[in-house]
Amino acid sequence: MALFGRTVVVCRKAVDLFTDYLEDALPSRDRARLEGHLAGCPRCAEHLRQMRTTIGALGQVGPDTPAPETCDELIALYQRWVADLALWLGDSKPVSDRVSDGRLIGCVAA
Ligand SMILES: [Zn+2]
Repeated sequence: MALFGRTVVVCRKAVDLFTDYLEDALPSRDRARLEGHLAGCPRCAEHLRQMRTTIGALGQVGPDTPAPETCDELIALYQRWVADLALWLGDSKPVSDRVSDGRLIGCVAA
């Protein structure tokens, strides 16, 4: 029981260092201690792996940088909506004269 309690405390301290470890901001002594713990603690090693996966996934997602094909789909959808609206209102003006596509979504300017 005492050993389990000590292990939990050591693991909590290890987890506290993960952010600095991932940002390469740990002093070399702490880094070596943490890596020693990770080598012998599958739970912490798995937790760190999950943090890396999450950070990697989040790094690829940004509201200002949708995929080009997503922008094309959104712009086409918007243009169809505006054209349908113009038909419904009996408006014969070109779409670009009424509403700028660039106002709809940021990816137009990207
Ligand atoms: Zn651990």
